[in-house]
Parts: sequence; C-alpha cells; structure tokens
Amino acid sequence: MYRLKKFIQNRSLRADQAEAISRRVYQTTLACRPKIGQGNFDDLSDQDLRFVFNATDDLFFGGMVRSLAQENGFPVAFRVSKRMTNSGGVTKMTLPNGNLKEKQFEIAISAPLLFNSFKESEGSATIVTGIPCRDRLEALQRIMEHEMLHLIEMMIWDDSNCAAPRFRSIASRIFGHTQSNHQLLAPRDIARRDHGISPGDWVSFSHNGENVLGRVNRITKRATVLVPHRKGVRYSDGKRYAKFYVPFDRLSKSA
Ligand SMILES: [Zn+2]
Repeated sequence: MYRLKKFIQNRSLRADQAEAISRRVYQTTLACRPKIGQGNFDDLSDQDLRFVFNATDDLFFGGMVRSLAQENGFPVAFRVSKRMTNSGGVTKMTLPNGNLKEKQFEIAISAPLLFNSFKESEGSATIVTGIPCRDRLEALQRIMEHEMLHLIEMMIWDDSNCAAPRFRSIASRIFGHTQSNHQLLAPRDIARRDHGISPGDWVSFSHNGENVLGRVNRITKRATVLVPHRKGVRYSDGKRYAKFYVPFDRLSKSA
C-alpha cells in the first residue's frame, strides 16, 4: 500500500517522458494483440482492456497497481460496455460484505464513444483528458489511465474524485493529463464550448485587412469557412464560394 502511495505522491514525469512511455504501451498493444491490429481498431474485447491496463501498470507504475490489488485480494474485472454513452469509462467499487477490506472493482469502457469517434479523416483529433488523440487506441489509453487512477485512489483512500486537487495532481504529474473529464471531445464540441461556434453559423473574420463574412462548413483543428465569391468553386447549393481555414480565435459570430 505505502510503496504505491509514496510513488504516486512523488512521481513527476516531463510531458515528453510520459508521451514516450505511452507510445511504448501503444506499440506493445498492437504487437501483442493482433485482433486490435491497428490504432483505429474495429473490435475490442474485455481481454484487450486488461492488456492495456497491465501494460500501463508495468510501464508507468512498475506493476505496483496489480501487486497492490493482489496483495489485498481485490479482484479487478474489465468490461467493454456497449451501452454507456455518457462517459468514456467508469470504475465501480463494490463491497459484497459491506467491508472496506473486501473491495471488488470493475473498469468499464464505452464502446460507442470510442467507435463513434475517429470516423472523419483530415486531422480531426479527439480530445481526451485534455490530450489530443489521433486514433481509438490512443483514446482508449487516456481513458484507461484516468480509470486506473480512480482504481488506485479507491484502493488506497477508499474513495476517488477526479475533480479534486489530489487526483488532478497525480494525473498531471504521471500522465500529463490536463483535464479531468470522462468525455471524448471532438473538435466541434470544443469549438462550441470554448468559442460558441458550430457548423452552419455565420461568422466574420479579417482577411488581408478586410472584414469577410462567411459560413462555417466544417470544423477540424480550424474552421472551414465558405465565403460567397463569384470566382469561387461551385458547391452543391449551386452557389460559388471561396474556402478559408480559420483558427477559432480569429472568428466572430455574426447574427
Ligand atoms: Zn473520473
């Protein structure tokens, strides 16, 4: 108990170290789980979840998370949830005899959220725990890292809260997580949340010193804005538009 507790209280990795370790987990998973096959896998099993958990435990914690569970006789089960859509993952602690010395755990990961993300091409990263993820396996790793910290807190302190300073501190020092939410946020979710901009909105922005008015057609890392222009390309609505890629902070919403 105290070894892992001391470790997570003191451990502090640089962002590039955490990234290099998580890259190893990624490569190991692809090499050892042939059914996963590629970063944007189409199939995910409970055993795959256990594998990602174990690899993360080995490389980030020297296997101490599993050791702690085993020493205390706490079973940890893994489940791919086909229904859960409000959260990327959830860690459940049950006490069959009402006794805190006999904890049982289950980590469930949402299949719908993973499989509904990363469908678009063209650099549409999805943000999980504050980190841009390029494919499903990267997103799964971030969710697993987050749930693993819930598990560790529940094993050591009996409860866990990812909005609290202790959790946020550990998540940032070990995994480089900057946000504590259970969502997979697409760029359009972030554009809406942080800038109030959605596809279809009329927006204005400055281009070569002129104020230009256009409509948001698509959102990836930047917004694709179509500006009516007689020399532009003809679109399916029969009109001609010039296309601009504009960073969100340069756009103003227009009524
Ligand atoms: Zn959480």
